[in-house]
Amino acid sequence: MQNRQYYLDPFLSEFDTSIVSASLIEDKYHVVLENTIFYPEGGGQPSDQGYLNDSKILHVYEKDNQIYHVIADKLYESKVKCRLNWDRRFYHMQHHSGQHLMSAVFYHYYNYQTKGFHLGEDYATIDISTPTLSNKIIADAETRINKLIYQDIPIRCYFITKEQIGRINLRKKPTIDQDIRIVEFAGLDAVPCCGTHLKSSGQVGLLKIIKTEKYKSLTRIYFLCGQQAQQDFQFKHNIIVALAHSFSSSEGDVLERVESEIESKRALAQEYKHLQKQAAYYQAKEIVHKAEKDLIIVNLDARKSTDYAILLADEILAIGNYIVIITVNNRLVLAVNRTAAFHCGKSMKKYLSEYDGRGGGNAHLAQAYFPTKEKMKQFIIQLENSIYQNG
Ligand SMILES: [Zn+2]
Repeated sequence: MQNRQYYLDPFLSEFDTSIVSASLIEDKYHVVLENTIFYPEGGGQPSDQGYLNDSKILHVYEKDNQIYHVIADKLYESKVKCRLNWDRRFYHMQHHSGQHLMSAVFYHYYNYQTKGFHLGEDYATIDISTPTLSNKIIADAETRINKLIYQDIPIRCYFITKEQIGRINLRKKPTIDQDIRIVEFAGLDAVPCCGTHLKSSGQVGLLKIIKTEKYKSLTRIYFLCGQQAQQDFQFKHNIIVALAHSFSSSEGDVLERVESEIESKRALAQEYKHLQKQAAYYQAKEIVHKAEKDLIIVNLDARKSTDYAILLADEILAIGNYIVIITVNNRLVLAVNRTAAFHCGKSMKKYLSEYDGRGGGNAHLAQAYFPTKEKMKQFIIQLENSIYQNG
């Protein structure tokens, strides 16, 4: 393990070493170095990124105990300068050490085991062995984890042999039987782990649980650490401040204000719906009173909606048996009573394409849209003629 510099010093971001071999596989060079600061993908932690001289590292992986660095260009010198994408590595370390703390708290205080760990680009998750998790436990566990961060517990990483396993109180059993690496938070937790870790829990900075969801028979917990947690706080804090300002409320009362606004909007919408129906009722009466034939054509004000047009058609049809055409802008609603022989959808479909209209519907109600008012007018004349021809 001497050629894994990332274990000896996970805070090293630049390093000079030599190339041992470089094999060309599908247009890419898979380079083995004498010693490396680049962590290969494994144990839930993604691979590091960075450069070998000026060549961008596309991937780092381990195969048969050998670490391969995949690059696109051939390197001509045997000596190379390794430069690590430190921000990404630190993000991984904060979230990986944070994960150990969280798994330790859920295990030691609540007896839930960690069954999965995912370290993504924007957040990390663990899956713990319970199908449900109350808000109280989430909040209490988060507080405990952050207290352990303040305590700045030293983190120790070391290798043991198979025979030494019994001497350590491990939270979970190792899956391999040689080169067993232990990550230990002094006096709190020890587990086999191959990832890169911080020097002490304090470097996690902050851990925030973002959300939880049921995942198979487990609970998936989404969380953020360090800078990402702080940025998330900043982002959400700005939203709360802006919301409170919009509602002329304090940050503490803003949720209540928003909820009461939603409630009053709901009541207003109901009132509006009621008034619309009433307006449609009286307008329908007036229209029917003036109607001379059983085909009624109404051109509504451009400010009206097609929802109102349908409401109005319903009210007209409640009074008698008519064929109703209502237009709003370039939109048209065609409706008849449920007992009528006339089929709205079919009649509409028959002539629609001739006037570049789009739409359709069922036997009693159909809607269409036309590119111009003129086209719609022609369509109505056509429809009218066909109605009178048929009876
Ligand atoms: Zn780990």
